[in-house]
Amino acid sequence: MSTIALSNKGAKLMKLCDVEGFDSLDDLLQAAVTDSVCPAICMTEGCDYTTEMEPDQDRGFCEVCGGQTVTSALVLAGLI
Ligand SMILES: [Zn+2]
Repeated sequence: MSTIALSNKGAKLMKLCDVEGFDSLDDLLQAAVTDSVCPAICMTEGCDYTTEMEPDQDRGFCEVCGGQTVTSALVLAGLI
């Protein structure tokens, strides 16, 4: 896995925290592991579509850019 991909994941996770109204990544992940759905974000550069998906989702459909690119926070954080 490249450094660029990792930093992109970090950036998307921070964006997801922001959009979902969590103060920190820990808070978001804590909420995600205790719920049946998980905050998820599109991984396409420049597309910040967010929704809720299954916790293990890494190829969800993005309604904005049309890609199979929506990934859950738990997958992004490497917890699944
Ligand atoms: Zn998208």
